[in-house]
Amino acid sequence: MIDIDQVRRCVRCGACRAVCPSFEVLGWESFNTRGRMLLIGKILDGADGSWALDSLGTCTTCSLCSQMCPAGVAPSRVVEDARRALASRKIAGAWQIELRDRISSTGNSLGEVGRRQGWLSILGADASSATKERADQVYFAGCMASYRYPETAARTFGILRRFGVSLLPSERCCGSPLLRTGLDASECMEENLRQINEMDVDVVVTGCAGCYTTLKNDYGLKVMSVADFLASRVSELEIRPLDFAVTYHDPCHLGRVNGIFDQPRKVIKEICELEEMRNSRELARCCGGGGGVRAGYKDLSREIARRRLDDVPPEAKYIVTACPMCVRNLNEAGGHGRVIDLVDLVAMACRR
Ligand code: SF4
Ligand code: SF4
Repeated sequence: MIDIDQVRRCVRCGACRAVCPSFEVLGWESFNTRGRMLLIGKILDGADGSWALDSLGTCTTCSLCSQMCPAGVAPSRVVEDARRALASRKIAGAWQIELRDRISSTGNSLGEVGRRQGWLSILGADASSATKERADQVYFAGCMASYRYPETAARTFGILRRFGVSLLPSERCCGSPLLRTGLDASECMEENLRQINEMDVDVVVTGCAGCYTTLKNDYGLKVMSVADFLASRVSELEIRPLDFAVTYHDPCHLGRVNGIFDQPRKVIKEICELEEMRNSRELARCCGGGGGVRAGYKDLSREIARRRLDDVPPEAKYIVTACPMCVRNLNEAGGHGRVIDLVDLVAMACRR
């Protein structure tokens, strides 16, 4: 349900216009936060809303506008609810239908048909040796790491399993792309929850910002980011210092939305020098990949990422981040392999 109070609270001041990454690229009022609030107000007044699909669909749900809003509006939540309201009336873009069908038929947002845990072979393991009947903690790899960054997934689990972390026997998409775009994710959620409950899991550890916020805020589970896990165990990782500087890109759904800022920085500073990006922490600009924008509006997504790369300090050898979606989008927009996961940096510095 759309929160009417949130929509009415918007005083049209326009403070959000200065930061909205999709508005920065597209330039039309209907593609900034204030314009979106106005359109959602019309939907609440009874308008059909099909004309608002692109306005709503191009919001990355980065929440930078919430940070700026003097009236306390949280537009990304309102946008998600408005997308849900439209989808419930069967008003959705073709890309949303394709995304839903892909996840429904393959269990992952990329439509891959190969084994999700195929990356275990890099560790010389298989699903039966990596899972236990019961475990306090499990690693949730997510679709992007499982299929696009198998080495990062393997490096992550290679570290985590030293501390007793296990795997779900048959992880599915967490449902984030469906929930963020207003679609039904109950099938994914029920299947993951069934396995989590059967294993009596206490904490789910994940290296994906989208999975993190979904497992924590939509499933209501106890969740730990890989960055947090590494920060708490950094003294046990046998790290040797590396002689270069890196910068750190805060994933929106890990940093601004869930407050994970210090932990990745603590890990980086154990390894090498950290030079901050021009906009960082609460003010970090979006990579353009979230909220379904990468799936539905590829050019916009790419251009937002390209502009984010302008914030990189020249001294940085690598742009480190803590989300495979950010790694993907920033590398494709001009990062050319310089954008790496925090775990990849740790692996460079680990003595074993
Ligand atoms: S959440 Fe981000 S993309 Fe969406 S309206 Fe706010 S600033 Fe713009
Ligand atoms: S900053 Fe907040 S109150 Fe001002 S226009 Fe944007 S959403 Fe509305």
